This record gives sequence, C-alpha cells and structure tokens, in this order.
Amino acid sequence: MTTAERKYPAPAVNPEIKPFFDAAAQGTLMLKKCAACGQSHFYPRAICPYCSSDRTEWITASGRGTIYSYSVMRRVPVPYAIAYVTLEEGVTMMTNIVDCDLDAIRVGHRVKVVFKPTDGGPPVPMFTPA
Ligand SMILES: [Zn+2]
Repeated sequence: MTTAERKYPAPAVNPEIKPFFDAAAQGTLMLKKCAACGQSHFYPRAICPYCSSDRTEWITASGRGTIYSYSVMRRVPVPYAIAYVTLEEGVTMMTNIVDCDLDAIRVGHRVKVVFKPTDGGPPVPMFTPA
C-alpha cells in the first residue's frame, strides 16, 4: 500500500451535472432515473439514454456496489486502480478503487463510495472496500 497521495483534477461542472456535484459535496451519491422507462443511468444526463425521454429525476444512490472490472496503473508516480463498479441500483460507473491494498482488489468485491477532494473543484466519488 502506497503512502503517497494522488492529486485529483477538478471535474468539469455544467448545469446538467451540477446537482450531482452539489450532492457529492454533501457526501451523497446521486444518479438519474427515468420516469418514463424506469431505468437508472450514469453518467447523469437530462435526456434518458435508453428511451430519449426528458422525464429524468435525481435519485439518491446507496453508495454500495461490486467491482465489475478493474486495472491497476503501475507505471505512474503513484499507482492507482481504475475500475467499473456496478451499484446496487444496477448502473455501472467508471471510477477508482482507493484507500486499500491495490494487490488485494478482486472482481466481485463489495465496495462503498467515498468522496475525494479535487484540485479547486467539487469532490469526486470513488470506491473503497466495504
Ligand atoms: Zn427512459
């Protein structure tokens, strides 16, 4: 386990995504759910990517999920793990697995959301073993 800390760049925030980062600043993970077809999705969009309805609503996610796939980046100053995490709500998000032994990460492991500060922007959601 490395003791060095990675720096995270500030995410680009626009009106469509601002509620997501406002919630992130409060420690809450939000998703979008479509009132027309019932599907949840990530990255949050105003228009449903499944049925093109504009009846999308913000929902609060549990913040819990499982690792669907991952890769550890080692040829960088501070190694890190990039991953796809499937949330209990059924959506899969690209993220990082943090605050753990990178060699102990496995597909199917249970994880929970943590929010990491960024360089001058809102915190971003990442995941750590549950
Ligand atoms: Zn829809």
